[in-house]
Amino acid sequence: MTDHNIAITKTTSKKQKPNPTELAFGEVFTDHMFILDYHQDKGWYDPRIIPYQPIALDPAAMVYHYGQTVFEGLKAYLTDNETVNLFRPEKNIKRLNRSNERMCIPTIDEELALQAIKQLVALDANWVPNAPGTSLYIRPFVIATEPYLGVAPSKQYKFIIILSPVGAYYKEGINPVKIAVENEYVRAVKGGTGEAKTAGNYASSLKAQEIVEAQGFAQVLWLDGLEKKYIEEVGSMNVFFKIDGEVITPALNGSILEGVTRNSVIQLLRHWGVQVTERTISMEEIYQAHQAGKLEEAFGAGTAAVISPIGTLSWNGEMLEINNSKTGETSKKLYDTLTGIQYGREEDFLNWVIELQS
Ligand SMILES: *Cc1c(COP(=O)(O)O)cnc(C)c1O
Repeated sequence: MTDHNIAITKTTSKKQKPNPTELAFGEVFTDHMFILDYHQDKGWYDPRIIPYQPIALDPAAMVYHYGQTVFEGLKAYLTDNETVNLFRPEKNIKRLNRSNERMCIPTIDEELALQAIKQLVALDANWVPNAPGTSLYIRPFVIATEPYLGVAPSKQYKFIIILSPVGAYYKEGINPVKIAVENEYVRAVKGGTGEAKTAGNYASSLKAQEIVEAQGFAQVLWLDGLEKKYIEEVGSMNVFFKIDGEVITPALNGSILEGVTRNSVIQLLRHWGVQVTERTISMEEIYQAHQAGKLEEAFGAGTAAVISPIGTLSWNGEMLEINNSKTGETSKKLYDTLTGIQYGREEDFLNWVIELQS
């Protein structure tokens, strides 16, 4: 691998680390950050790691006005041998560049991005928390920084990586949640930006989330933006249903975000000989399967929660209870295997883990 020569300026005042058993999500940040600049005349330049600090931008910076920005999310895990694992980081970097292309942001050298993640995590490795279920969340993102009030692609950008020690998602064990099928608002449409991890998708999802939360639901189940019939995602996770022994997940149709966890779940299930189908699936079909007693499990899949079982689905005034609101066998096995591989407790037979050299 080429060495991209990332300049490192170490902090002179190390922060106090939080108690690993009291960590929440995304509230504390480590001692250092990575920055790479872009100018239309120079390309990407000046990769550097510097002390974690605020960034000063012109109030006219285009990201503030037109939302030209993308992000990623992955984790570093501390193993029992005190080594640090990354899980399929190259998938996140490839997706970052797909998001970049969709948002007219220049793509980033994938080797440089991987080296930046590795060097930054290695430098702040003592921030990877050691309590069960905790990890170091890695947030790479790109922002349009040119000061210009016109709707056009920016001529300047910053690619930044920050790190945040995060708590166990399930403090009292993996727990099924109540989900409301969303019939009013939509997350994305074909031809829109649903396939890209870009800020606007999440800003536009807040309203629906706020409404169902007030009604006691954890998340919304998003339906397609055109007919509001077909299932797309659950909150910011991909979604899976087990019907009569077969696992079904919505096919990547242009409005669904392609999750790394989704891909890993599909591969693991196929490895175990479970039939997995990626296809269009309607809420009516889920309802019918439930009525026939064939809806065995439903769960979300994403980096933050890994697997999030759905205990209840609320649809058209009916409450569909799934597996007696208990975590299903397949959900549990997927959760245990994925976290086992991530934390180095199970054999990494699909070669997903990169162990950091310390
Ligand atoms: C990030 C994200 C996911 C999950 O992707 P992972 O790579 O598995 O973390 C799914 N849906 C949406 C909308 C997302 O933003």
